[in-house]
Amino acid sequence: MEIEIFTDETFIVDKKTNTEYLGIGCLFVPTSFKKEFVDKLLELRCMNENSDTWHWDFKNCLNSKAKLCKEKWHKLNNKEIHYKELREKSPHHLKEISKRWIKFLLQHNQNYSDKNKLIYFKILYIDLKKLDKTFFGNEETDNIVYNRFYRMVILGAKNFFFKDEKFIIKEFFHDKSSEKELSNIFPWNTPNKLDKIEDVDIQKDTITFIDSNHNNYAYEKFKKNAQFIQFIDLILGCINQILFQPAKTQIKNEISNIYYPLFKKIWEEPNNKNSHLNFYRKQDVSIFPKEKMYYQ
Ligand SMILES: [Zn+2]
Repeated sequence: MEIEIFTDETFIVDKKTNTEYLGIGCLFVPTSFKKEFVDKLLELRCMNENSDTWHWDFKNCLNSKAKLCKEKWHKLNNKEIHYKELREKSPHHLKEISKRWIKFLLQHNQNYSDKNKLIYFKILYIDLKKLDKTFFGNEETDNIVYNRFYRMVILGAKNFFFKDEKFIIKEFFHDKSSEKELSNIFPWNTPNKLDKIEDVDIQKDTITFIDSNHNNYAYEKFKKNAQFIQFIDLILGCINQILFQPAKTQIKNEISNIYYPLFKKIWEEPNNKNSHLNFYRKQDVSIFPKEKMYYQ
């Protein structure tokens, strides 16, 4: 399978146990599904149910011609989706798009059997206190820790989601991080190490950093790639909320509650091959080191 990988990270403290976690979320997008996938995410941005075509500019919006859209609304539909920034007083559009994206996540894999057209992601939380950081070396310790687990997530997906097939990574995308971008290890380390593994083919040997806010880009290609970073950010945000309850905001609970039935299955029955939610070997959430963790 040929894929592109979109990665976002999170740092969270479990206030009940005072445990610090680094969370890494990777979305694996089959290149044969990419266009359909992003078109769907964009289509869900439009508040008019009768329109299924998204345009970045208001002047091209099909609904503007039918007077069903206003410039002000169109701008809101076009904003970055960022779980952390959702508030009660956030514009209705942002809350609604976030809910629609999560509903789409729940629905999509149920409706498709072609494995080239499914949504794949893997999320790993690392208990930072349980890591003996000195084990990883003294220089750039955090980067080395991150490198190791980033690679582990991707390899985990290769061995579990895409077993017995050629694993071609067309490109690695990572949410913008100046620290990682400027590191003299991170941008090339994982692509190069993975390239040495049998059955892995790396097409671009450095990591591409992207801004999750597509409005900072002029080119459509970049705007589209940013949608996937927003999508994995939203999934990561929901899981943070379910596992650690960092925010009391009602809208955050509402959105994570939509995701909850799928999370519960992934968490409690990770080996359930027959679930209609079709997550087995497609979607995975885990904690390192392995331990049983309870959530509210
Ligand atoms: Zn519009």
